[in-house]
Amino acid sequence: MKHLFAFLLAGLICATASIYSQQLPSPEQRFGFRIGSDYRLLNWEEIVGYFREMDHASGRLTLVEMGLTTLNRPMVMAIISSAENLRNLEQQQAWQAQLARPYELSPQRAESLLQSTKSVLLLTMNIHSNEIAASQESVELAYELISNESPVYQRIRDEVILLMIPSLNPDGQDMITKWYQRTVGTPYEGSRMPYKYHFYADHDNNRDWFFFNLQESRLTAKTLYREWFPEIVMDQHQMGSRAARFFLPPYADPVNPNVPPLIMSQVNLVGKEIVSRMQEQGFKGLVTGTIFNAFFEGTMSKTPLWHNRIGILTEAASVRYASPVYFPRTSLRGMGPDLPDYRQQTNFLDPWPGGWWRLRDIIDYQKAAAMALLEYAAANRVRIKSNFYRMNKRAIEVHPDDHPQAYWLPRDQRDPSNVLELLKRLQIAGVQVYQPGKMIR
Ligand SMILES: [Zn+2]
Repeated sequence: MKHLFAFLLAGLICATASIYSQQLPSPEQRFGFRIGSDYRLLNWEEIVGYFREMDHASGRLTLVEMGLTTLNRPMVMAIISSAENLRNLEQQQAWQAQLARPYELSPQRAESLLQSTKSVLLLTMNIHSNEIAASQESVELAYELISNESPVYQRIRDEVILLMIPSLNPDGQDMITKWYQRTVGTPYEGSRMPYKYHFYADHDNNRDWFFFNLQESRLTAKTLYREWFPEIVMDQHQMGSRAARFFLPPYADPVNPNVPPLIMSQVNLVGKEIVSRMQEQGFKGLVTGTIFNAFFEGTMSKTPLWHNRIGILTEAASVRYASPVYFPRTSLRGMGPDLPDYRQQTNFLDPWPGGWWRLRDIIDYQKAAAMALLEYAAANRVRIKSNFYRMNKRAIEVHPDDHPQAYWLPRDQRDPSNVLELLKRLQIAGVQVYQPGKMIR
């Protein structure tokens, strides 16, 4: 009887799984080609449409409409976790906020929250629209995270709440994919688009994270500093094609002295962990510690460092949108002062031998890096969260050298409207503003 029951149960689970997969086609089934195939790109409408479908079909993904972009396209974020975590999302969010701002948290209560609050990880993609691969990767990674039943994926869903923003600049994503589709097969295939991919800022949309001039940065700041307080952030980019295949932290010098050393040590650790994980899977051409430093605080992966978050930048070697490129070994070059020549060294252990390089390769590298980070976050949830909480607590303790606990801006100013604007920008970054006696929202 027991066997019969187990058999029936197994049958039931299989039936549920097959109904489930019938309801939700894989990206390849939905779009008719494997994501990352040569010459094929998904535009913004297709990407958002598929995320809506995943939201509809699965209890493991909730799609949040963050607001409208500069040119009125929908900006979206997928929240991916186990069905149980998604049912308790408000509770999880409230706990995470308490650990991020532990003003009134007793040590006992904090200890219990550290055990019960899931890892919160933000994955941002495609801020630079011509670095198109991550937007394509998003649908495939999300699909696998919600549909793969292996223990690795289950553990990630159980331990992590992943916030995935498939494009930080949907306007540009759409412009670039349409430009490419218009020019593919013509002499202009893979050429630079002759207009800006962000209406106001073009490439400098990734210098806005402390000043918040752009609508897209403001919408994302809400997730970062006021609603979700993710303790880990990964931002995926692409770089030039002729050097390493993939950059990961540790960052190049100089180190910014205002970022807690505990944050930078965790950034170093996570970067090397991802390198090691990807090396296990045979990825070649991974480089660390050159060109990209963490001194400037205006970029998506760096500003969070000042908020006690682990900020990971990845940079993959580019192709021409979805057109493959070919590099003989002799054409490959070094990369900045810490990799002067294209040869094996400590920060570049396994040089890529050259050959064809495709959009699909970039997606494989980026996905492997994201998965390694998710696995790391799942396995080290309490430790990472404890460090996050401790640093946040330290920031509001009375310093022995008596640093200010608040800044005071007198009401009586020569130009009051500028004071208000300053306060508004600080609030976007999560700074709390009070009038004597009450907080201003
Ligand atoms: Zn970039």
